[in-house]
Amino acid sequence: MSKCIFCEIAAGRIPASIVYEDNMTVAFMDIHPVNPGHVLVMPRRHFETLSDMDETTGMHLFQIVMRVEQALRNMEGLRCEGTHLLQNNNTAAGQDVPHVHIHIIPRFADDGVQFHLRTGPTPDREALNALADAIELAM
Ligand code: AMP
Ligand code: ZN
Repeated sequence: MSKCIFCEIAAGRIPASIVYEDNMTVAFMDIHPVNPGHVLVMPRRHFETLSDMDETTGMHLFQIVMRVEQALRNMEGLRCEGTHLLQNNNTAAGQDVPHVHIHIIPRFADDGVQFHLRTGPTPDREALNALADAIELAM
């Protein structure tokens, strides 16, 4: 079985520019940043997708994401004007590295980055309500 590259980073066996680490999470610089300051935050333990991860880890992960996001807004020399959080699950959603991670992508006015959801037509309210009820039932 091939090694997980993000587990290797978490273990310090391959180089990474670490922003922050603790016993549950590691935040590090994306090697192909969309914009300067693009950070990935991941659990130290290997979980392939969000749905494999336990909620305790997820809560802590998001706490660190919030702190990094705040830092990107406040820090001298970056002071981003907006951010995207992105978290891909499975190849159908474009996940390249099968170890849960959240992208924090700084945005600047007129940075030229294209990041748009191609939204569809508005379903009728009945269809939306039926889906809302079905999802709640599945939770
Ligand atoms: P995703 O499509 O959400 O799985 O994104 C994977 C991200 O990991 C991409 O943005 C890559 O640039 C980034 N990446 C891949 N290998 C490394 C690495 N060795 N160090 C830092 N970032 C990496
Ligand atoms: Zn891994």
